[in-house]
Amino acid sequence: MEEQKKQYDLEEHYAQLEKTITAANLPVELGRVRAAFELADRSHAGQKRKDGTPYVSHCIAAAIITAEMGLDEDAIIAALLHDCIEDTSLTHEDIARNFGTAVADIVEGVTKLTRVQYTSVEEQQVENLRKMLLAMAKDIRVILIKMADRLHNMRTMAYQSEVKQRIKSLETMEVYAPIAHRLGMQKMKWELEDLSLQYLDPSGYKAITNYLNERMDTLETFMADIKGKLQSRLDAEGIQCTISSRIKHVYSIYRKMYAQKLDINGIFDLCAFRVIVDDISDCYAVLGIVHDMFKPMPGRIKDYISTPKPNNYRSVHTTVIGSEGIPFEVQIRTWEMHVTAEYGVAAHWKYKSGTNGVKPGDEEKFAWVRRLLETQQESDASDFLSNLKIDMFADEVFVFSPKGDVINLPAGATPIDFAYSIHSAIGNSMVGAKVNGRIVNFDHVLQNGDIVDIRTSKNAPGPSRDWLALAKSGSARTKIKQWLKKERREENVMNGREMFERELRANNIAPSDIMADDILPLILKRLAFQHIDDLYAAIGYGGVTATRTVNRIKDELQRHQSDGQKTAYDKITEQAERRNKRQRHAVHGVLVEGLDNCLIKFSRCCTPVPGDDIIGFITRGAGVSIHRKDCENYRNSPAENKGRWIAVGWADRITDEYTTTLVLVSTQRSALVMDVATVLNSLNAKVRTLTARDVENNRSTATITVEVHSLSELRLIINRLSAIHGVYRVARVGSAEAKADYDKNQLAQ
Ligand code: MN
Repeated sequence: MEEQKKQYDLEEHYAQLEKTITAANLPVELGRVRAAFELADRSHAGQKRKDGTPYVSHCIAAAIITAEMGLDEDAIIAALLHDCIEDTSLTHEDIARNFGTAVADIVEGVTKLTRVQYTSVEEQQVENLRKMLLAMAKDIRVILIKMADRLHNMRTMAYQSEVKQRIKSLETMEVYAPIAHRLGMQKMKWELEDLSLQYLDPSGYKAITNYLNERMDTLETFMADIKGKLQSRLDAEGIQCTISSRIKHVYSIYRKMYAQKLDINGIFDLCAFRVIVDDISDCYAVLGIVHDMFKPMPGRIKDYISTPKPNNYRSVHTTVIGSEGIPFEVQIRTWEMHVTAEYGVAAHWKYKSGTNGVKPGDEEKFAWVRRLLETQQESDASDFLSNLKIDMFADEVFVFSPKGDVINLPAGATPIDFAYSIHSAIGNSMVGAKVNGRIVNFDHVLQNGDIVDIRTSKNAPGPSRDWLALAKSGSARTKIKQWLKKERREENVMNGREMFERELRANNIAPSDIMADDILPLILKRLAFQHIDDLYAAIGYGGVTATRTVNRIKDELQRHQSDGQKTAYDKITEQAERRNKRQRHAVHGVLVEGLDNCLIKFSRCCTPVPGDDIIGFITRGAGVSIHRKDCENYRNSPAENKGRWIAVGWADRITDEYTTTLVLVSTQRSALVMDVATVLNSLNAKVRTLTARDVENNRSTATITVEVHSLSELRLIINRLSAIHGVYRVARVGSAEAKADYDKNQLAQ
């Protein structure tokens, strides 16, 4: 081994790459390739492979494999540089400056794939991981270079630790070999499988190779004999053909032993023959001749020419029994089918690099690739191949859980979708999310390969209605709706009522009008609800829409004649018009008895909101100040002010928001402000100010000023805040119990 290390000749290895390129007749500018090699060599200087060779030897080897596949110049250059972004100081910009953006993009793509960690072996997970790699690659050359990289690493796996050998082999067997299969690259698949098996089941692998080696002479004699017979018969029939024979690859024998529970002596068809002809009609002619010469085994004829495999593999297979009673397989195909079978997707560069470039009709021939891969709509046909883009999973995105599970979500999915896909309990208790270690908003759009970590809390407020718009998957939305329906009746009723009344007003119907005893039961019956709150709740959680509901109510009103010629709808519309006139005199949503357009202000001592019982106080020169009837200032008003209190009321139609202040008392807790903010945020409350102070007796108080539309909205906020861990009470300013707390808080400031 020592001697071999010293003997490694970098220039000789590089010359091999040039030779491969020349032999494959690739239209490649060798100067650029040389420059890429030198850059890789400089960048990886000092780094060594486990086998003792300079690191760049791996880069050359990967480039040779891509050249053997027949990939283009940019791909070969990218293969030489494929580890530069990950393992050296070179950046995307450096590579772009020297070799163009296309090369830099490919290298970056390979780097991203390299960073994907393989951990799981569960079948569903593995399939998702394969899809993730393909989806991430975007450019097909990225995945092909990654395959070349993996193939060389597997070839040199002997120098790695036993643990690494097993992990890498398992990953190769589970992820990369199936991708090679999917892309139709049979040769790559076989080699990857055999290399992996060698480390995954060393004794099983050895048993098969030993068996084959022991019988090598017999097998070779047998193959030469059959091949000779085939050749002379086909020559006699005047069919132009090339015949090759091989022993089947180790893993296919191994799999057969397991599948059929056979000992190796029970596996007969160890040998396979391949007859390659010029056209399809010859394929079937050869099949007939083979069956005339040897007895076919029933059920073993497979016509993948008339019915190609999904990866576009085409050939006719048959298994026949030779003169000594030994079965063997014959595969018959054309040259074109052969190249496609060996190199799969990569075969298309082979065609392209032929002397004539892309021929007319090639596009049609590669229709299957197009189905597999999306092409950019380039007018220039020669760009067709180099612009192959993978679009197999454009409507899906694949992300990791922190444990390494691969989760498959619809494109555009957010952390909300992710959380619900794990478990509805995770979604319902979600309070935050991290993507790749960084905190993100709930509307953050996930990308392939992201690692998503959901933070949950026992005190989580639960999903909010907004989440419905942020979730992309139907299942997440269903789970959110279920939760909202079950857990948020109170809130649903309130929100539903607001949406419903807004919609009514938009249709010029006053909410109070349909509440009449002669109308409401009809409407509820028609809409199939027991109680008006059930209707509100249904609108609130999204079970029915307000628009649809109101449209049906309009129909109902118009159908029921009442009040002579006028329908109920006409009547209601008229009432609404009359009221609109009156409404104009309301100021800030408040009507003052006997006074139009007077100056209105809301007292800061009790901050009333619509729904509160209110009373007005005629101030000196500052209009009418509005108080709650339970305000201390009203209840303890001195006798001389009696005459200045005046009746006021809320208008029917209120759209304004009203500022009101709450005082909260809790045990002393550092996270109090955060919990309060979380609750308010989940309710979409508009917070004007939020201050918290520690006061005596290990208590904290918080003063919260919010804007609300109505008392019911405010009550909901109070209920939620009261439910926070450690909170003793939440009170509105103006009430006796809040006064002391409020004063303390003010003093502390
Ligand atoms: Mn590599």
